[in-house]
Amino acid sequence: MEDYQVLIGLEMHCEISKTKTKVFSSARNGYSEEANSFIRPLDMGFPGTLPVVNKKAVEMALKASMILGCQQPEYMYFERKNYYYPDMPKNFQITQETKPIPVGIYGSLTYDFNGEKKTVRINNIHLEEDAASLDHYPSFSTIDYNRAGVPLLELVTEPDMHSAEEAVAFLETMRSIYQYAEISDADSRKGQIRCDVNVSIMDKGKDPKDPKNWGTKVEIKNVNSFGGVRDAINYEIDRQIALKEDGTYDEMQQQTRRWDEDTFTTIYMRSKVDAIDYRYFVEPNIPKYRISEEWKESIRKSIPKLASERKEIYQSEYGLSEYDAKVLIKEKPVSDYYEKTIALGADPKGAANWITSVILGYLNKEEMEIKDLYLTPRMLVDIMDMVRDGKISSKQSKEVLNKVLEEKKTPKEIVKKLGVTQISDDKTIRDIVVKLLDEHPDLIEDHRKGKNTFDFFVGQVMKATRGQANPSLTAEIIRDEMDKR
Ligand code: ADP
Ligand code: MG
Repeated sequence: MEDYQVLIGLEMHCEISKTKTKVFSSARNGYSEEANSFIRPLDMGFPGTLPVVNKKAVEMALKASMILGCQQPEYMYFERKNYYYPDMPKNFQITQETKPIPVGIYGSLTYDFNGEKKTVRINNIHLEEDAASLDHYPSFSTIDYNRAGVPLLELVTEPDMHSAEEAVAFLETMRSIYQYAEISDADSRKGQIRCDVNVSIMDKGKDPKDPKNWGTKVEIKNVNSFGGVRDAINYEIDRQIALKEDGTYDEMQQQTRRWDEDTFTTIYMRSKVDAIDYRYFVEPNIPKYRISEEWKESIRKSIPKLASERKEIYQSEYGLSEYDAKVLIKEKPVSDYYEKTIALGADPKGAANWITSVILGYLNKEEMEIKDLYLTPRMLVDIMDMVRDGKISSKQSKEVLNKVLEEKKTPKEIVKKLGVTQISDDKTIRDIVVKLLDEHPDLIEDHRKGKNTFDFFVGQVMKATRGQANPSLTAEIIRDEMDKR
């Protein structure tokens, strides 16, 4: 390992999940339990059907292109990639190659990797249609066209990553960008993200930016989880180093392999030497059209604050630690939840504390998502307000929150039901204190002589109120009344 450096280039596919309809048909873009329910004749390749470009999908693709600092084309073209496969009944996929220019070329992404900044060059990003999904059974296969025609973004990086961890950090950053920019839920569990991973090794000391020095590229197709990407890369690095060590690396041809989750190995599929010619040509049924400067400008303006900017604000304006800020921005729905509590007037540090320590812990334990949480930002702020106003103690507030989650009742209902309301009313406590002091003149005398009788009085007030008196207010009133005597 010490003798080699690793080069990794990614082709990341992410479904655009935020459009209402598919990229070239009016079928719904979404997930359905029922197979073949979100389809139009076009998605099944019926003769005589014609594609109509979904403007929203193009807008989102251009938005991604801008975020990555890519150049956008002056004219939008689509192309046909011709091949036969049952998941693609038209016998071609409508996509974009680098000529003419796709939605973006030559950008870059800088991201945080263990406190270090890494920059990966983006070769291009393009918009295409997803294929149908096939399921294979022992004696037959099924096909579901719900996915056919879902808008898909393919992002192609230069081989600028040098370890499995760097590649996964890149993918996580991209996923966050897609989520924050409202392009996609980017949920790999729903199959929305799929990657082709390219790996090679080269001698240490040589310039990794010069293609002349690169080793033979091995492409691992269709890895569908970040864990899979990590494991496939690590396996492939070891495999290629073993070839170097036994002197057979130079015989290895450019090839396509697949990641096999059962054996935890990559398996040879085909050599790139006799690569398929897809016979690309410009899609004749979609006229090229101009992307005006005004349109680009309005898209640029629609780019919201991304995770890195929110993190910056959380640290500099709200005074959160870097760690807490990172935890809060990791998932957009969590960050949105946090920002809603602040919009409702919550103290930013207090709310951050509740979310990072209590709420995320609960979600984790229950394997739930924050969008399914019964406790709304409003309810959390209500609980925080009750503590601030002395209605409940901070100890009681944890109990209230747990009961809210358990019983699905509002904080006010729970507080009423538990009878945990804290007594913070000056007069109520003062009346009890005055009566106690009247009953124990001897103890006031002891107190003056330096004996600690103070705690006794606090204890008596708590007893009289079944522990519900606000402790700090109680102490204050006892001191005040003693001083008067
Ligand atoms: P192809 O024409 O085979 O698709 P490309 O040049 O388009 O190859 O590159 C596809 C992907 O492979 C890109 O992500 C690129 O960064 C990556 N890649 C190219 N050469 C190498 C290499 N030697 N090692 C690792 N990745 C590579
Ligand atoms: Mg390629």
